[in-house]
Amino acid sequence: MFPSPHVRDEKRSHDLASEIARVLGRQEAVDTSPIAIQEHSYDCWPVSIKWRQQKHTPFPPDVIVRPESTTEVSTLLAWANTQRVFVTPWGLGSSVVGGPIAARGGICLDLSKLNRINKLNHEDLVVRAEAGVNGGTLENYLNELGLTLNHSPQSLHRSSLGGWVATHATGQFSSRYGGIEDLCAGIRGVLADGTVFDTGSAPRKAVGLDLRHMMIGSEGCLGVITEVALRVFRKAEHRELDTISFGSIEEGINACREIMQNGLRPFLLRLYDVDEARHAMGDKSFETPVMFLGCEGRSAIAKLELEYCVDICQQNDGRSLGVTGVSAWMERRFDFSKIESVLDNPGGVAETIEIANSWSGITQSYFALKSALASHADEVLGHFSHAYTNGISLYFIILANTADAIASEARLWKIWRTAMETAIATGATISHHHGIGLARSSYVARELGSAIRLLKDVKSVLDPNGILNPGKF
Ligand SMILES: Cc1cc2nc3c(=O)[nH]c(=O)nc-3n(C[C@H](O)[C@H](O)[C@H](O)COP(=O)(O)OP(=O)(O)OC[C@H]3O[C@@H](n4cnc5c(N)ncnc54)[C@H](O)[C@@H]3O)c2cc1C
Repeated sequence: MFPSPHVRDEKRSHDLASEIARVLGRQEAVDTSPIAIQEHSYDCWPVSIKWRQQKHTPFPPDVIVRPESTTEVSTLLAWANTQRVFVTPWGLGSSVVGGPIAARGGICLDLSKLNRINKLNHEDLVVRAEAGVNGGTLENYLNELGLTLNHSPQSLHRSSLGGWVATHATGQFSSRYGGIEDLCAGIRGVLADGTVFDTGSAPRKAVGLDLRHMMIGSEGCLGVITEVALRVFRKAEHRELDTISFGSIEEGINACREIMQNGLRPFLLRLYDVDEARHAMGDKSFETPVMFLGCEGRSAIAKLELEYCVDICQQNDGRSLGVTGVSAWMERRFDFSKIESVLDNPGGVAETIEIANSWSGITQSYFALKSALASHADEVLGHFSHAYTNGISLYFIILANTADAIASEARLWKIWRTAMETAIATGATISHHHGIGLARSSYVARELGSAIRLLKDVKSVLDPNGILNPGKF
Protein backbone atom coordinates (compact mmCIF):
# COMPACT_ATOMS: atom_id res chain seq x y z
CA MET A 1 0.00 0.00 0.00
CA PHE A 2 1.29 3.51 -0.82
CA PRO A 3 2.45 5.19 2.41
CA SER A 4 0.45 8.07 3.92
CA PRO A 5 2.23 11.43 4.12
CA HIS A 6 4.64 11.89 7.02
CA VAL A 7 4.18 15.01 9.14
CA ARG A 8 7.47 16.33 10.44
CA ASP A 9 7.53 17.61 14.01
CA GLU A 10 10.31 20.17 14.66
CA LYS A 11 10.69 19.29 18.33
CA ARG A 12 10.86 15.54 17.67
CA SER A 13 13.41 16.13 14.89
CA HIS A 14 15.51 18.32 17.14
CA ASP A 15 15.45 15.77 19.98
CA LEU A 16 16.30 12.97 17.54
CA ALA A 17 19.23 14.96 16.11
CA SER A 18 20.64 15.71 19.60
CA GLU A 19 20.40 12.05 20.60
CA ILE A 20 22.12 10.86 17.39
CA ALA A 21 24.90 13.44 17.81
CA ARG A 22 25.40 12.09 21.33
CA VAL A 23 25.42 8.44 20.15
CA LEU A 24 27.95 9.17 17.36
CA GLY A 25 29.90 11.68 19.42
CA ARG A 26 29.85 14.08 16.50
CA GLN A 27 27.51 17.06 16.14
CA GLU A 28 28.56 17.66 12.48
CA ALA A 29 27.19 14.21 11.54
CA VAL A 30 23.59 15.43 11.90
CA ASP A 31 21.73 18.03 9.90
CA THR A 32 18.19 19.36 10.35
CA SER A 33 18.62 22.54 8.30
CA PRO A 34 15.53 23.32 6.19
CA ILE A 35 17.60 23.27 3.00
CA ALA A 36 19.03 19.78 3.70
CA ILE A 37 15.58 18.46 4.65
CA GLN A 38 14.16 19.87 1.40
CA GLU A 39 16.99 18.45 -0.72
CA HIS A 40 16.50 15.00 0.78
CA SER A 41 12.71 15.01 0.42
CA TYR A 42 12.79 14.54 -3.36
CA ASP A 43 14.83 12.36 -5.71
CA CYS A 44 14.82 12.35 -9.55
CA TRP A 45 11.48 10.53 -9.82
CA PRO A 46 9.29 12.79 -11.99
CA VAL A 47 6.38 12.41 -9.52
CA SER A 48 8.59 13.78 -6.75
CA ILE A 49 9.74 16.61 -9.04
CA LYS A 50 6.06 17.50 -9.49
CA TRP A 51 5.54 17.42 -5.69
CA ARG A 52 8.37 19.93 -5.34
CA GLN A 53 6.83 22.17 -8.00
CA GLN A 54 3.53 22.06 -6.06
CA LYS A 55 5.46 22.95 -2.85
CA HIS A 56 4.13 19.68 -1.50
CA THR A 57 6.48 17.68 0.75
CA PRO A 58 4.73 14.43 1.67
CA PHE A 59 7.81 12.55 2.88
CA PRO A 60 10.35 14.76 4.67
CA PRO A 61 13.00 12.97 6.71
CA ASP A 62 13.22 14.10 10.35
CA VAL A 63 16.99 14.31 10.31
CA ILE A 64 19.86 13.82 7.86
CA VAL A 65 22.84 11.83 9.17
CA ARG A 66 26.14 11.76 7.25
CA PRO A 67 28.38 8.94 8.56
CA GLU A 68 32.08 8.91 7.73
CA SER A 69 32.91 5.25 8.44
CA THR A 70 31.41 1.77 8.55
CA THR A 71 31.78 1.92 12.35
CA GLU A 72 29.59 5.03 12.49
CA VAL A 73 26.94 3.31 10.32
CA SER A 74 27.06 0.32 12.64
CA THR A 75 26.77 2.42 15.82
CA LEU A 76 23.86 4.36 14.34
CA LEU A 77 21.93 1.29 13.15
CA ALA A 78 22.42 -0.57 16.45
CA TRP A 79 20.95 2.44 18.26
CA ALA A 80 18.13 3.04 15.72
CA ASN A 81 17.14 -0.62 15.87
CA THR A 82 16.71 -0.61 19.66
CA GLN A 83 14.86 2.74 19.50
CA ARG A 84 12.73 1.65 16.49
CA VAL A 85 13.75 4.70 14.45
CA PHE A 86 13.35 4.38 10.68
CA VAL A 87 16.50 4.66 8.55
CA THR A 88 16.43 5.25 4.80
CA PRO A 89 19.78 5.11 2.96
CA TRP A 90 20.51 7.90 0.45
CA GLY A 91 23.34 7.52 -2.07
CA LEU A 92 23.31 10.52 -4.42
CA GLY A 93 19.53 10.72 -4.88
CA SER A 94 19.46 9.91 -8.61
CA SER A 95 16.75 7.27 -8.22
CA VAL A 96 13.95 7.76 -10.75
CA VAL A 97 11.43 5.72 -8.72
CA GLY A 98 11.38 7.41 -5.28
CA GLY A 99 13.80 4.84 -3.75
CA PRO A 100 15.68 7.03 -1.25
CA ILE A 101 12.64 9.05 -0.14
CA ALA A 102 12.05 8.54 3.61
CA ALA A 103 8.43 7.39 3.30
CA ARG A 104 7.89 7.24 7.07
CA GLY A 105 10.29 9.98 8.15
CA GLY A 106 13.06 9.18 10.62
CA ILE A 107 16.71 9.23 9.53
CA CYS A 108 17.84 9.88 5.98
CA LEU A 109 21.25 8.19 5.99
CA ASP A 110 23.21 10.23 3.45
CA LEU A 111 26.26 8.16 2.45
CA SER A 112 27.98 10.80 0.33
CA LYS A 113 30.79 11.31 2.90
CA LEU A 114 31.72 7.64 2.74
CA ASN A 115 33.57 8.36 -0.47
CA ARG A 116 37.14 7.06 -0.26
CA ILE A 117 38.67 4.94 -2.99
CA ASN A 118 40.46 2.49 -0.74
CA LYS A 119 42.49 0.09 -2.80
CA LEU A 120 43.17 -0.86 -6.39
CA ASN A 121 44.65 -4.31 -6.95
CA HIS A 122 46.29 -4.08 -10.38
CA GLU A 123 47.02 -7.78 -10.58
CA ASP A 124 43.43 -8.83 -9.87
CA LEU A 125 41.87 -5.77 -11.53
CA VAL A 126 39.63 -5.16 -8.53
CA VAL A 127 38.99 -1.78 -6.94
CA ARG A 128 37.58 -1.35 -3.42
CA ALA A 129 35.80 1.90 -2.71
CA GLU A 130 33.33 3.25 -0.19
CA ALA A 131 29.69 3.16 -1.11
CA GLY A 132 29.12 6.90 -1.40
CA VAL A 133 31.82 7.52 -3.99
CA ASN A 134 30.49 9.28 -7.09
CA GLY A 135 30.58 6.98 -10.14
CA GLY A 136 32.19 9.64 -12.35
CA THR A 137 34.95 10.26 -9.81
CA LEU A 138 35.71 6.54 -9.69
CA GLU A 139 35.73 6.27 -13.49
CA ASN A 140 38.07 9.29 -13.83
CA TYR A 141 40.43 7.81 -11.23
CA LEU A 142 40.58 4.53 -13.18
CA ASN A 143 40.91 6.23 -16.58
CA GLU A 144 44.10 7.95 -15.45
CA LEU A 145 45.56 4.49 -14.84
CA GLY A 146 44.44 3.15 -18.23
CA LEU A 147 41.49 1.31 -16.65
CA THR A 148 37.72 1.63 -16.79
CA LEU A 149 34.61 0.44 -14.93
CA ASN A 150 32.73 -0.64 -18.05
CA HIS A 151 29.67 0.19 -15.94
CA SER A 152 28.27 3.20 -17.66
CA PRO A 153 24.78 4.18 -16.54
CA GLN A 154 23.52 7.43 -18.04
CA SER A 155 23.65 8.72 -14.45
CA LEU A 156 27.37 7.79 -14.06
CA HIS A 157 28.32 11.26 -12.78
CA ARG A 158 25.35 11.68 -10.45
CA SER A 159 25.00 8.26 -8.80
CA SER A 160 27.05 6.33 -6.22
CA LEU A 161 28.72 2.94 -6.13
CA GLY A 162 26.50 1.80 -3.24
CA GLY A 163 23.42 3.09 -5.08
CA TRP A 164 24.31 0.97 -8.13
CA VAL A 165 24.52 -2.19 -6.04
CA ALA A 166 21.42 -1.35 -4.00
CA THR A 167 19.30 -0.75 -7.13
CA HIS A 168 20.63 -3.63 -9.27
CA ALA A 169 21.74 -1.04 -11.80
CA THR A 170 23.06 -1.59 -15.29
CA GLY A 171 24.89 0.51 -17.83
CA GLN A 172 25.09 1.30 -21.53
CA PHE A 173 27.77 -1.36 -22.19
CA SER A 174 26.01 -4.22 -20.42
CA SER A 175 25.52 -6.44 -23.48
CA ARG A 176 29.27 -7.18 -23.28
CA TYR A 177 30.20 -6.51 -19.62
CA GLY A 178 26.99 -7.31 -17.75
CA GLY A 179 25.11 -5.40 -15.07
CA ILE A 180 26.32 -4.50 -11.58
CA GLU A 181 25.60 -8.09 -10.47
CA ASP A 182 28.38 -9.24 -12.83
CA LEU A 183 30.81 -6.46 -11.89
CA CYS A 184 30.39 -6.42 -8.12
CA ALA A 185 32.97 -8.80 -6.63
CA GLY A 186 32.21 -8.24 -2.96
CA ILE A 187 30.26 -6.15 -0.47
CA ARG A 188 30.94 -4.80 3.01
CA GLY A 189 27.90 -3.55 4.83
CA VAL A 190 25.89 -3.26 8.00
CA LEU A 191 22.70 -5.08 8.97
CA ALA A 192 19.77 -3.43 10.73
CA ASP A 193 21.04 -4.45 14.19
CA GLY A 194 24.47 -2.94 13.56
CA THR A 195 26.28 -6.17 12.60
CA VAL A 196 29.09 -5.53 10.10
CA PHE A 197 29.56 -8.15 7.37
CA ASP A 198 31.94 -8.65 4.45
CA THR A 199 31.23 -11.15 1.68
CA GLY A 200 34.88 -11.30 0.53
CA SER A 201 35.70 -10.90 -3.14
CA ALA A 202 36.68 -14.34 -4.46
CA PRO A 203 36.32 -14.68 -8.26
CA ARG A 204 33.55 -17.21 -7.56
CA LYS A 205 32.59 -19.41 -4.65
CA ALA A 206 30.38 -22.37 -3.95
CA VAL A 207 30.00 -21.90 -0.22
CA GLY A 208 26.24 -21.94 -0.02
CA LEU A 209 24.21 -18.98 -1.23
CA ASP A 210 25.92 -16.14 -3.04
CA LEU A 211 25.53 -13.61 -0.22
CA ARG A 212 26.22 -10.61 -2.46
CA HIS A 213 22.72 -11.18 -3.74
CA MET A 214 21.23 -10.41 -0.33
CA MET A 215 22.30 -6.82 -1.04
CA ILE A 216 22.22 -6.49 -4.84
CA GLY A 217 18.83 -4.93 -5.56
CA SER A 218 17.95 -4.69 -1.85
CA GLU A 219 17.20 -0.96 -2.24
CA GLY A 220 18.27 -0.11 1.32
CA CYS A 221 15.59 -2.43 2.78
CA LEU A 222 17.91 -5.24 3.98
CA GLY A 223 21.13 -3.50 5.03
CA VAL A 224 23.42 -0.57 4.35
CA ILE A 225 26.24 -1.13 1.86
CA THR A 226 29.37 0.71 3.02
CA GLU A 227 32.11 -0.60 0.70
CA VAL A 228 32.15 -2.44 -2.61
CA ALA A 229 34.82 -4.41 -4.45
CA LEU A 230 34.35 -3.99 -8.21
CA ARG A 231 35.91 -5.82 -11.12
CA VAL A 232 37.49 -3.27 -13.45
CA PHE A 233 38.97 -3.53 -16.95
CA ARG A 234 41.88 -2.37 -19.07
CA LYS A 235 40.65 0.26 -21.50
CA ALA A 236 39.94 -1.28 -24.87
CA GLU A 237 42.69 -0.93 -27.46
CA HIS A 238 40.24 -0.20 -30.25
CA ARG A 239 36.58 0.56 -30.92
CA GLU A 240 34.57 -0.01 -34.09
CA LEU A 241 31.18 1.67 -34.47
CA ASP A 242 28.34 1.60 -36.97
CA THR A 243 24.81 2.96 -37.35
CA ILE A 244 22.33 0.61 -39.02
CA SER A 245 18.88 1.46 -40.30
CA PHE A 246 16.14 -1.21 -40.49
CA GLY A 247 12.96 -1.47 -42.52
CA SER A 248 10.93 -2.48 -39.46
CA ILE A 249 11.33 -2.78 -35.70
CA GLU A 250 10.73 -6.54 -35.92
CA GLU A 251 13.75 -6.95 -38.21
CA GLY A 252 15.85 -4.86 -35.83
CA ILE A 253 14.78 -6.99 -32.84
CA ASN A 254 15.57 -10.15 -34.77
CA ALA A 255 19.04 -8.82 -35.61
CA CYS A 256 19.70 -8.09 -31.90
CA ARG A 257 18.64 -11.64 -31.00
CA GLU A 258 20.79 -13.22 -33.74
CA ILE A 259 23.82 -11.17 -32.66
CA MET A 260 23.52 -12.32 -29.03
CA GLN A 261 22.62 -15.93 -29.83
CA ASN A 262 25.56 -16.24 -32.23
CA GLY A 263 27.95 -15.53 -29.38
CA LEU A 264 28.86 -12.01 -30.49
CA ARG A 265 29.27 -9.46 -27.68
CA PRO A 266 29.11 -5.86 -28.92
CA PHE A 267 29.75 -3.43 -26.05
CA LEU A 268 27.07 -1.22 -27.60
CA LEU A 269 23.77 -2.55 -28.91
CA ARG A 270 20.83 -0.17 -28.92
CA LEU A 271 17.83 -0.31 -31.22
CA TYR A 272 15.54 2.73 -31.46
CA ASP A 273 12.03 2.67 -32.84
CA VAL A 274 11.27 5.17 -35.56
CA ASP A 275 9.88 7.76 -33.11
CA GLU A 276 12.98 7.72 -30.92
CA ALA A 277 15.28 7.32 -33.94
CA ARG A 278 14.34 10.87 -35.00
CA HIS A 279 15.67 12.13 -31.64
CA ALA A 280 18.63 9.74 -31.51
CA MET A 281 19.75 10.79 -35.00
CA GLY A 282 18.92 14.47 -34.41
CA ASP A 283 16.96 14.44 -37.68
CA LYS A 284 13.21 15.20 -37.66
CA SER A 285 12.79 13.61 -41.09
CA PHE A 286 14.47 10.30 -40.19
CA GLU A 287 12.04 7.55 -41.12
CA THR A 288 13.27 4.13 -39.97
CA PRO A 289 14.25 2.31 -36.78
CA VAL A 290 17.98 2.60 -36.15
CA MET A 291 20.62 0.55 -34.31
CA PHE A 292 23.76 1.91 -32.65
CA LEU A 293 26.37 -0.80 -32.70
CA GLY A 294 29.89 -0.97 -31.28
CA CYS A 295 32.56 -3.64 -30.80
CA GLU A 296 35.81 -3.21 -28.89
CA GLY A 297 38.97 -4.96 -27.77
CA ARG A 298 42.07 -5.97 -29.75
CA SER A 299 41.83 -4.15 -33.05
CA ALA A 300 41.61 -7.16 -35.38
CA ILE A 301 39.03 -8.92 -33.20
CA ALA A 302 36.86 -5.80 -32.79
CA LYS A 303 36.86 -5.23 -36.56
CA LEU A 304 35.93 -8.83 -37.28
CA GLU A 305 33.25 -8.88 -34.58
CA LEU A 306 31.65 -5.74 -36.01
CA GLU A 307 31.76 -7.27 -39.49
CA TYR A 308 29.86 -10.33 -38.23
CA CYS A 309 27.31 -8.12 -36.45
CA VAL A 310 26.76 -5.99 -39.57
CA ASP A 311 26.43 -9.14 -41.64
CA ILE A 312 23.62 -10.34 -39.35
CA CYS A 313 21.95 -6.92 -39.62
CA GLN A 314 22.13 -7.09 -43.44
CA GLN A 315 20.49 -10.52 -43.38
CA ASN A 316 17.65 -8.76 -41.53
CA ASP A 317 17.39 -5.99 -44.13
CA GLY A 318 19.67 -3.64 -42.17
CA ARG A 319 21.62 -0.94 -43.99
CA SER A 320 24.86 0.57 -42.71
CA LEU A 321 24.79 4.37 -42.41
CA GLY A 322 28.36 4.80 -41.12
CA VAL A 323 29.67 6.13 -37.84
CA THR A 324 28.19 9.64 -37.64
CA GLY A 325 24.93 8.81 -35.81
CA VAL A 326 26.47 6.48 -33.24
CA SER A 327 29.57 8.68 -32.67
CA ALA A 328 27.38 11.69 -31.91
CA TRP A 329 25.42 9.58 -29.42
CA MET A 330 28.64 8.38 -27.73
CA GLU A 331 29.60 12.04 -27.20
CA ARG A 332 26.32 13.02 -25.54
CA ARG A 333 25.45 9.78 -23.80
CA PHE A 334 25.33 11.30 -20.30
CA ASP A 335 23.23 14.26 -21.40
CA PHE A 336 19.74 14.20 -19.90
CA SER A 337 19.02 17.91 -20.39
CA LYS A 338 16.15 17.48 -22.88
CA ILE A 339 14.14 15.41 -20.39
CA GLU A 340 15.08 17.76 -17.54
CA SER A 341 13.97 20.83 -19.46
CA VAL A 342 10.54 19.25 -20.08
CA LEU A 343 10.24 18.38 -16.36
CA ASP A 344 11.36 21.90 -15.31
CA ASN A 345 8.13 23.20 -16.81
CA PRO A 346 5.41 22.52 -14.16
CA GLY A 347 3.00 21.20 -16.82
CA GLY A 348 5.69 19.14 -18.55
CA VAL A 349 5.54 15.35 -18.40
CA ALA A 350 8.64 13.26 -19.14
CA GLU A 351 8.77 9.76 -17.71
CA THR A 352 11.20 6.90 -18.36
CA ILE A 353 10.01 3.35 -17.78
CA GLU A 354 12.05 0.22 -18.46
CA ILE A 355 10.90 -3.37 -18.50
CA ALA A 356 12.29 -6.60 -19.97
CA ASN A 357 10.98 -9.70 -21.63
CA SER A 358 12.22 -12.83 -23.35
CA TRP A 359 12.77 -12.68 -27.12
CA SER A 360 9.55 -14.63 -27.60
CA GLY A 361 7.54 -11.99 -25.71
CA ILE A 362 9.31 -8.68 -26.28
CA THR A 363 7.64 -7.70 -29.56
CA GLN A 364 4.19 -8.15 -28.06
CA SER A 365 5.20 -6.12 -24.99
CA TYR A 366 6.57 -3.37 -27.24
CA PHE A 367 3.44 -2.97 -29.38
CA ALA A 368 1.07 -3.29 -26.40
CA LEU A 369 2.92 -0.66 -24.32
CA LYS A 370 3.44 1.67 -27.25
CA SER A 371 -0.27 1.69 -28.01
CA ALA A 372 -1.49 1.77 -24.37
CA LEU A 373 0.81 4.67 -23.44
CA ALA A 374 -0.09 6.67 -26.56
CA SER A 375 -3.42 7.71 -25.04
CA HIS A 376 -1.55 9.52 -22.20
CA ALA A 377 1.19 11.17 -24.23
CA ASP A 378 2.16 13.42 -27.13
CA GLU A 379 5.12 11.18 -27.86
CA VAL A 380 6.02 7.63 -26.82
CA LEU A 381 9.64 6.88 -27.70
CA GLY A 382 10.89 3.30 -27.43
CA HIS A 383 14.28 1.65 -27.54
CA PHE A 384 15.76 -1.77 -26.87
CA SER A 385 19.10 -2.13 -25.08
CA HIS A 386 20.83 -4.46 -22.56
CA ALA A 387 20.56 -7.62 -24.66
CA TYR A 388 20.97 -11.22 -23.46
CA THR A 389 20.88 -14.58 -25.17
CA ASN A 390 17.32 -15.06 -23.87
CA GLY A 391 15.81 -11.58 -24.11
CA ILE A 392 16.24 -7.84 -23.98
CA SER A 393 15.13 -4.77 -22.07
CA LEU A 394 12.70 -2.22 -23.45
CA TYR A 395 12.82 1.44 -22.40
CA PHE A 396 10.14 4.04 -23.04
CA ILE A 397 10.37 7.81 -22.78
CA ILE A 398 6.88 9.27 -22.46
CA LEU A 399 6.44 12.97 -23.20
CA ALA A 400 3.34 15.15 -22.74
CA ASN A 401 2.22 18.62 -21.84
CA THR A 402 -0.43 19.47 -19.28
CA ALA A 403 -1.76 22.63 -17.64
CA ASP A 404 0.28 22.61 -14.42
CA ALA A 405 2.18 20.50 -11.89
CA ILE A 406 -1.03 19.03 -10.40
CA ALA A 407 -2.24 17.87 -13.81
CA SER A 408 1.16 16.56 -14.75
CA GLU A 409 1.44 14.54 -11.50
CA ALA A 410 -1.99 13.02 -12.23
CA ARG A 411 -0.83 12.16 -15.75
CA LEU A 412 2.34 10.53 -14.44
CA TRP A 413 0.30 8.25 -12.18
CA LYS A 414 -1.85 7.20 -15.18
CA ILE A 415 1.30 6.47 -17.17
CA TRP A 416 2.72 4.31 -14.37
CA ARG A 417 -0.54 2.36 -13.95
CA THR A 418 -0.84 1.76 -17.67
CA ALA A 419 2.79 0.72 -18.08
CA MET A 420 2.80 -1.66 -15.12
CA GLU A 421 -0.55 -3.27 -15.98
CA THR A 422 0.44 -3.72 -19.62
CA ALA A 423 3.87 -5.11 -18.73
CA ILE A 424 2.30 -7.68 -16.39
CA ALA A 425 -0.40 -8.57 -18.95
CA THR A 426 2.23 -9.31 -21.61
CA GLY A 427 4.43 -11.41 -19.32
CA ALA A 428 7.22 -8.84 -19.03
CA THR A 429 9.09 -8.08 -15.83
CA ILE A 430 8.04 -4.69 -14.40
CA SER A 431 11.59 -3.33 -14.03
CA HIS A 432 14.85 -4.07 -15.81
CA HIS A 433 17.15 -1.69 -13.87
CA HIS A 434 15.53 1.34 -12.22
CA GLY A 435 14.10 -0.73 -9.37
CA ILE A 436 10.99 -0.54 -7.23
CA GLY A 437 11.10 2.51 -4.93
CA LEU A 438 7.70 4.09 -4.36
CA ALA A 439 6.77 3.99 -8.04
CA ARG A 440 6.46 0.21 -8.34
CA SER A 441 5.86 -0.86 -4.74
CA SER A 442 2.18 -1.67 -5.42
CA TYR A 443 3.07 -4.12 -8.20
CA VAL A 444 5.78 -6.21 -6.52
CA ALA A 445 3.43 -8.85 -5.10
CA ARG A 446 1.91 -9.51 -8.54
CA GLU A 447 5.30 -9.66 -10.20
CA LEU A 448 6.80 -12.09 -7.68
CA GLY A 449 3.77 -14.32 -7.13
CA SER A 450 4.48 -17.11 -4.64
CA ALA A 451 8.19 -16.16 -4.55
CA ILE A 452 7.30 -13.09 -2.49
CA ARG A 453 7.39 -15.41 0.54
CA LEU A 454 11.19 -15.59 0.18
CA LEU A 455 11.50 -11.81 0.16
CA LYS A 456 9.19 -11.40 3.15
CA ASP A 457 11.05 -14.03 5.16
CA VAL A 458 14.46 -12.55 4.35
CA LYS A 459 13.20 -9.09 5.36
CA SER A 460 11.73 -10.35 8.62
CA VAL A 461 14.99 -12.07 9.59
CA LEU A 462 17.43 -9.33 8.53
CA ASP A 463 15.31 -6.41 9.68
CA PRO A 464 12.79 -7.80 12.22
CA ASN A 465 11.81 -4.34 13.46
CA GLY A 466 11.27 -3.03 9.94
CA ILE A 467 13.47 0.04 10.42
CA LEU A 468 15.17 -0.01 7.00
CA ASN A 469 13.61 1.99 4.16
CA PRO A 470 9.98 1.38 5.21
CA GLY A 471 7.12 1.73 2.72
CA LYS A 472 9.04 0.21 -0.20
CA PHE A 473 9.21 -3.51 -1.05
C1 LIG B 1 19.51 10.96 -15.78
C2 LIG B 1 19.44 9.61 -15.15
C3 LIG B 1 19.89 8.52 -15.86
C4 LIG B 1 19.87 7.24 -15.28
N1 LIG B 1 20.39 6.20 -15.98
C5 LIG B 1 20.45 4.97 -15.40
C6 LIG B 1 21.06 3.88 -16.09
O1 LIG B 1 21.58 4.01 -17.20
N2 LIG B 1 21.09 2.67 -15.46
C7 LIG B 1 20.57 2.50 -14.22
O2 LIG B 1 20.63 1.37 -13.71
N3 LIG B 1 19.97 3.51 -13.56
C8 LIG B 1 19.92 4.74 -14.10
N4 LIG B 1 19.34 5.78 -13.41
C9 LIG B 1 18.76 5.55 -12.08
C10 LIG B 1 19.74 5.80 -10.90
O3 LIG B 1 20.83 6.61 -11.30
C11 LIG B 1 20.24 4.48 -10.36
O4 LIG B 1 19.18 3.79 -9.77
C12 LIG B 1 21.41 4.58 -9.37
O5 LIG B 1 21.91 3.29 -9.16
C13 LIG B 1 21.02 5.19 -8.04
O6 LIG B 1 22.21 5.54 -7.35
P1 LIG B 1 22.21 6.67 -6.23
O7 LIG B 1 23.55 6.66 -5.59
O8 LIG B 1 21.77 7.96 -6.76
O9 LIG B 1 21.15 6.09 -5.19
P2 LIG B 1 19.88 6.77 -4.56
O10 LIG B 1 19.00 7.31 -5.62
O11 LIG B 1 20.31 7.72 -3.50
O12 LIG B 1 19.19 5.52 -3.86
C14 LIG B 1 18.59 4.52 -4.64
C15 LIG B 1 18.14 3.36 -3.74
O13 LIG B 1 19.27 2.69 -3.21
C16 LIG B 1 19.31 2.76 -1.79
N5 LIG B 1 20.72 2.99 -1.45
C17 LIG B 1 21.55 3.95 -1.96
N6 LIG B 1 22.77 3.79 -1.45
C18 LIG B 1 22.73 2.73 -0.60
C19 LIG B 1 23.69 2.07 0.21
N7 LIG B 1 24.97 2.48 0.26
N8 LIG B 1 23.28 1.02 0.95
C20 LIG B 1 22.01 0.58 0.91
N9 LIG B 1 21.06 1.17 0.14
C21 LIG B 1 21.42 2.22 -0.60
C22 LIG B 1 18.37 3.88 -1.41
O14 LIG B 1 17.78 3.66 -0.14
C23 LIG B 1 17.34 3.80 -2.51
O15 LIG B 1 16.40 2.80 -2.23
C24 LIG B 1 19.33 7.07 -13.97
C25 LIG B 1 18.87 8.17 -13.27
C26 LIG B 1 18.92 9.43 -13.84
C27 LIG B 1 18.44 10.61 -13.04
